[in-house]
Amino acid sequence: MLKINVDKSLFEDILLKKINILEKNISKYWQKELIEVEIIEDKIHYNIKKIKKINIINGLARNNPKLVIECKNIVYNTQNNTFEFYLGKILEQKNTHTQDYKDILIQELIHEKQELKDTMNRDHLTGVFNRRKMQKDLSMFIKQNNSHKLVAVFVDADRFKGINDNFGHDTGDRALVYLGSKLKKHAKLLNGEVYRYGGEEFILLCFVKKELVLKKLDTLRIDIKSQNIYHPNRAISMSVSIGVAFFNECESKDELIKKADKGVYKAKKNGRDRIEFG
Ligand code: GH3
Ligand code: MG
Ligand code: MG
Repeated sequence: MLKINVDKSLFEDILLKKINILEKNISKYWQKELIEVEIIEDKIHYNIKKIKKINIINGLARNNPKLVIECKNIVYNTQNNTFEFYLGKILEQKNTHTQDYKDILIQELIHEKQELKDTMNRDHLTGVFNRRKMQKDLSMFIKQNNSHKLVAVFVDADRFKGINDNFGHDTGDRALVYLGSKLKKHAKLLNGEVYRYGGEEFILLCFVKKELVLKKLDTLRIDIKSQNIYHPNRAISMSVSIGVAFFNECESKDELIKKADKGVYKAKKNGRDRIEFG
C-alpha cells in the first residue's frame, strides 16, 4: 500500500475531512511510485497507477498516528506540477486519539449550526435581523414579564425611491447599510433590537419607559440625517419617518405592528422627517 508521511496539521485536516485532495510535488520518488510505462505498438505510454488505498502516517508524532484512507483517483496537475490524491472514506485509523477528534468535530458542528442559524435570521444586505426573526422575537417578547414596556418603532426612509432613481441602486443599497448601522447603534440605547421589515422599512422592538421614548427617538431621527452618504457627484442626506406603538395599548402583536405602521403613515402625511404615534 502506498505510504504518505504528513505533518501534524495536515494529518488532522485529513482526519477531520477538512481537505479531500492531498497534493504531492512531482519528485523522482513519486514518479517511480505512481507512473507505469507501457509500450503499445512501439509507442511509449505513461499511465498513473490505480491505487485503492493510501496509508497516511504522521511519522514524527508520538505513537505514529496512522490512517488508511480510500483513494478515489490520482490526477497529474500540469499547472502546479503536482500529483493530486482524491481522498475518500477513512477505512482504518490507529493512535488517532479518536475521542479528542470527535470532541473537536462536535464543537465544529455546533459552531457551524449556530452560524447557519444566525445567517437565516439576518438580512443579507444590512446585517440586521430579518422579518422572520422579528416575528419569532415578537411572539416571545409579548409573553415576557416586562411586555408592558414593549415598544414597536417603525422606521421608513423618506423618498427613498428618489435616491435610487437619482444616484443608482448601489448608492441606494449603501444608504440602507448606513441606515441599518445607525439603527443598530440606537437599538442598544433603546434596550432593543433592530429588524429589516422589508425594502426601506425597519422595525425596532425595544423595552423602554414611555416617557423616554420620544426623546430617544428624536435623537435617532436627527442622528440619521446629520451624516451624509457618499456619492461622487453630491453628498446625500437621508431622513426617516417614524411610527411608534406601545404593546400595553394593543390586543395583539399584529395590532402593535399595524399601529406603528399607522404612525408612519401619519408622519408621511404630516410632512415626513418626524415621529408620530399610531
Ligand atoms: P416615502 O417617503 O413615501 O416612503 O417614499 P419612498 O420613495 O421611500 O417609498 P416607496 O415605497 O415609493 O419606495 C421605496 C423604494 O425602496 C422602492 C424600492 O425600489 C426601494 N428599495 C426596496 N428595497 C431596496 C433595496 O434592497 N435596495 C435598494 N437600493 N432599493 C430598495
Ligand atoms: Mg415604505
Ligand atoms: Mg419610504
